[in-house]
Amino acid sequence: MEINQKQLEQVNDRIKALVKAESFYGKKLEEAGITEVHSAEDFKKLPFSEKNDLREAYPLGLMTAPESEIVRIHSSSGTTGTPVIIPYTAKDVDDWAIMFKRCYETAGITNMDRIQITPGYGLWTAGIGFQNGAEKLGAMVIPMGPGNTDKQLEMMQNLKSTVLCSTSSYALLLSEEIEKRGIKDKIHLKKGVIGSERWSAKMRERIATELGIELYDIYGLTEIYGPGIGINCKYNTGMHYWDDYLYLEIIDPKTGENVPDGEIGEIVITTLVKEGAPLIRYRTHDLSRIIPGECPCGSKFPRIDVIMGRTDDMMKIKGVNVFPKQIEEVLAEFKEISSEYQIRISHLDGKDTMRIYVESTGDVDFANLSKRIAERVKSRIGFTPIVKVVEIGVLPRSMKKTARVIDERYQ
Ligand code: ZN
Repeated sequence: MEINQKQLEQVNDRIKALVKAESFYGKKLEEAGITEVHSAEDFKKLPFSEKNDLREAYPLGLMTAPESEIVRIHSSSGTTGTPVIIPYTAKDVDDWAIMFKRCYETAGITNMDRIQITPGYGLWTAGIGFQNGAEKLGAMVIPMGPGNTDKQLEMMQNLKSTVLCSTSSYALLLSEEIEKRGIKDKIHLKKGVIGSERWSAKMRERIATELGIELYDIYGLTEIYGPGIGINCKYNTGMHYWDDYLYLEIIDPKTGENVPDGEIGEIVITTLVKEGAPLIRYRTHDLSRIIPGECPCGSKFPRIDVIMGRTDDMMKIKGVNVFPKQIEEVLAEFKEISSEYQIRISHLDGKDTMRIYVESTGDVDFANLSKRIAERVKSRIGFTPIVKVVEIGVLPRSMKKTARVIDERYQ
């Protein structure tokens, strides 16, 4: 999807602001000698930005508006060392809330809904993003934050929450607790808005069935406002994103070239109107694709597919490129196993080995099941894994991101 004239003008305006503020990225653009773009071709010459660049700007090197206009910062967690600090102006906070409100509306959520928010509040963009959007919509917010499952379920029943905002693993945990406690008839949830984590079709189906709700995937990242920059509609044909605020490209992560619409690659985002910390061609390392054509819902907002993983999830095993998503899709074909799984890759006696752990949901012949799964995986990725079937509930469930792939080769 080529950048249009209006978006180019917005990019030029942002470049001017970055250069004028002598912010971290403004200096980078000056060094690269590009301070104006007139065509889609020019745009593609703009240097990419990366999370590591943003870390170098710590603490406030990204600040592009005068400090008098900055009302808030958020910070993205770094698994390694220095965090990234993103300053927001009042307009940025408001724009984010407008986008998030659109997400709720796209999911058919209204000001008569009661929205229970379980992601964390604080430096993270999660909880507060869900909250601002819901308030903009005029819905009633139940700002729980994470954890304390007893209290979550108590409020969910007494306040008759109709919408659950959560990570996929916490939604799964809650659905299992509801089942275990036999309180499903006291739960009034109709919809779930699920963010921040890659999840399988099977896990989605399981949460939807157990809770009896419709599920919506919300997309976003702290560097670009936070969650709320895209969501699927009820037709579930990918996530609509807000191209009046953001320009998205899909690139080949190895060459940096744009790939044709429809092909999988890395999402690269340019913020068109952000003031506090505009970003140009920010590499998200999230894998997806542009979905060509129009959505049956009639929305003119373009779509990307659900996030298919991270560029660094790409594993090279026995010389073959493997995405966890490929394995997930194979596992989803088997009704005899739960949505939880774990993949362990190790290197023994000069050879790579992949072990896949899955949970049986009933009375099945474990040996026969593991053989059938191994054969299906082989037909998909080209080599045979070792499949181990365990009892249900054995694999770890986590309230935060669940680590499903463990590469023991480099530990
Ligand atoms: Zn749609």
